[in-house]
Amino acid sequence: MTDPIRDIAIIGAGPAGAHLASLLSAAGRDVILFDAKGAWEKPCGGGVPTRAIREFAFLLEDSNYPRNLVRRLTLISPTERRVTVKLEEPFAIYSRRDLNGLVLDRALEAGAEFIRASVSDFSREGDDWIITTGDGRKFRARFLVGADGAASFTRRRLLGIFPARDIALAFGYNVIADQASNGKDAPAEEEAVVKFPKNFTGYLWAFPRPGVMNFGVASKLGERTSDELRSLLSNFVTDYYGGQMPLPERVSFFGAKIPTLDLSSWPGLRASGERWALIGDAAGFCDPITGEGIYYAFKSADILARVLIDCASEDAADGLVSVTSLYEKLWRESFGHELEKASHRLPMFYHGRFYGHDFSDAVVRLARYHKGVRTVLVRAVMGDQSYITLKTDLLRRAWQVF
Ligand SMILES: Cc1cc2nc3c(=O)[nH]c(=O)nc-3n(C[C@H](O)[C@H](O)[C@H](O)COP(=O)(O)OP(=O)(O)OC[C@H]3O[C@@H](n4cnc5c(N)ncnc54)[C@H](O)[C@@H]3O)c2cc1C
Repeated sequence: MTDPIRDIAIIGAGPAGAHLASLLSAAGRDVILFDAKGAWEKPCGGGVPTRAIREFAFLLEDSNYPRNLVRRLTLISPTERRVTVKLEEPFAIYSRRDLNGLVLDRALEAGAEFIRASVSDFSREGDDWIITTGDGRKFRARFLVGADGAASFTRRRLLGIFPARDIALAFGYNVIADQASNGKDAPAEEEAVVKFPKNFTGYLWAFPRPGVMNFGVASKLGERTSDELRSLLSNFVTDYYGGQMPLPERVSFFGAKIPTLDLSSWPGLRASGERWALIGDAAGFCDPITGEGIYYAFKSADILARVLIDCASEDAADGLVSVTSLYEKLWRESFGHELEKASHRLPMFYHGRFYGHDFSDAVVRLARYHKGVRTVLVRAVMGDQSYITLKTDLLRRAWQVF
């Protein structure tokens, strides 16, 4: 037996799925949202860029969901040169339990129906989808959305998994602040640190969350072994704490994959089909250079919500079918071309030369002495710097040094 028919079924209640559920429910659509974990501590840095908190104002509206606002960023180059830049507008760092809780609570308040179970199967019956959960329940819906993250089950069934070239591997530690140290060991709440190791397609980070320091390393899958990544990470954490790793009882380890699409994957990338669509990580919407995907999770949910609301109001059956072409057009225009450009820039960013040095080394050196280069860096962190003009903007600013 299946339940009554819903307008839209969403698999996954992370930032993408829960945000979509809240927008569609607020617009009067009948939405059912599935996730076995609810609001959970997903492996993540939890860094929400300035652009996201500007565009999605609800993120900072409710102080019940704690976060840190970061106003300084220290960059460490492959030759250990450092520069600290002040951010005109902060970016936010959340524990993922809090961020997911915020978005899921909004979806529930807007009227979405939440099923705390994982989806184990789905199939078509005429124009409808029959969705089966791990505990054997069945649900019926007119439209299916996969918002189930980098290892998306929905994507696997509808399009196939991401190939290895499209994936980065990330490991990290969450370190609880040491109460016994009377605040001496507390994270520097307003400052994040990013380090670029030599000959490495990725970076290390230290992100201060309320009461917790989040450390991580991300790199293209297959470039380094897991042991090498873990050892880079441990050295970084040890350096951060002045030569000593925090006691094991304060430390929890995590690892996960991030979609970071290769340049060759963008032209043929699809995120929808007849009566289905993918959003967020499941669609591959992450910045290939930084691995940042929270903004794109919200943004793709926004775009799909608009398309579903507009198309479905045209007239039931045909409206839903025309979702595909409109959604594909809009995500590409909104951020797809920019992300494709980031894939194009990736080799220059991590392995290129600039003014006779490794790219990140040259940028850190120049930024120490030149406000113009710092401005480009600050704009990059805020999400205001286009990858399309990154090199020319840096060249223009760097040229002014001389
Ligand atoms: C180590 C690491 C660090 C990162 N740091 C940052 C950062 O600092 N800033 C940033 O912007 N991005 C970062 N990212 C990327 C960011 O985590 C993702 O881009 C973001 O979470 C994508 O949101 P989403 O809603 O698409 O997917 P997710 O957040 O992965 O949510 C997917 C949801 O689907 C659920 N699900 C999965 N399968 C099923 C199923 N079969 N049935 C029902 N539910 C299911 C899961 O339980 C999960 O809740 C990082 C990623 C990693 C791995």
